[in-house]
Amino acid sequence: MGSFFNVVLFRFNTGRSIIRGRSKCVICQSTIRWFDLLPVLSHFILEGRCRNCKKKISSAYPIMEISTATALLLLFLNAPDTSFPTVLNASIVLLFVLIVFFDIRYFIIPDKILIAAAIPTTAIMLTSPNAVLPNLLISGLGLATFFAILFIVSRGKWIGFGDVKLILIMGLLLGYPLGFFAVMSSIWAAAIFSILLLVTGRANLKTQIPFGSFLAITTIIFVIFNHELQEISRYFY
Ligand SMILES: [Zn+2]
Repeated sequence: MGSFFNVVLFRFNTGRSIIRGRSKCVICQSTIRWFDLLPVLSHFILEGRCRNCKKKISSAYPIMEISTATALLLLFLNAPDTSFPTVLNASIVLLFVLIVFFDIRYFIIPDKILIAAAIPTTAIMLTSPNAVLPNLLISGLGLATFFAILFIVSRGKWIGFGDVKLILIMGLLLGYPLGFFAVMSSIWAAAIFSILLLVTGRANLKTQIPFGSFLAITTIIFVIFNHELQEISRYFY
């Protein structure tokens, strides 16, 4: 899955098919041979270089593969079964890993990924107990409305519209209070990250931050540790 996500990410808007066409070195255009296509391993065996031209290959590839594997592994360690809810959560986690990398690389969250994420989200909502459904709907719409207003007032400077759509999905998925905690944690994490960048001189006040990546990472953590976080939040309410 992580290797496939690399193809989706790096062929985005290049006109190349994500299912057809062999992987090539971006520098010398030589086709990468089948035995050099092992996820993560090939990168280390080849010491991060193309076998043909010896130029460096982006470490984003193994990072994507390791992140995808880690997220899925944590999910299955926490819910070691192949029940319908676990499969739905796994598809959410996978799509959100992809969102993390898309927002870092392009500062956008493609609608296609959001629509794909809306499918398991709807299934999770419809299979949740009837008493929970109004909570999920109100949380999603409430959070999305608040951030849509921020988007309109700031003319897209404080938050992107992709983030608003992502927050809608987060609210529908996690409800109250977890959805609100997730969004707040993302804001805090993004703020601390921005301050660190400013203090270390790696950014100025105009530097764009991939806020959607923070939202997506938080959502992954909240989906994986949903049960534990529910327990903690119950302690406070
Ligand atoms: Zn090459």
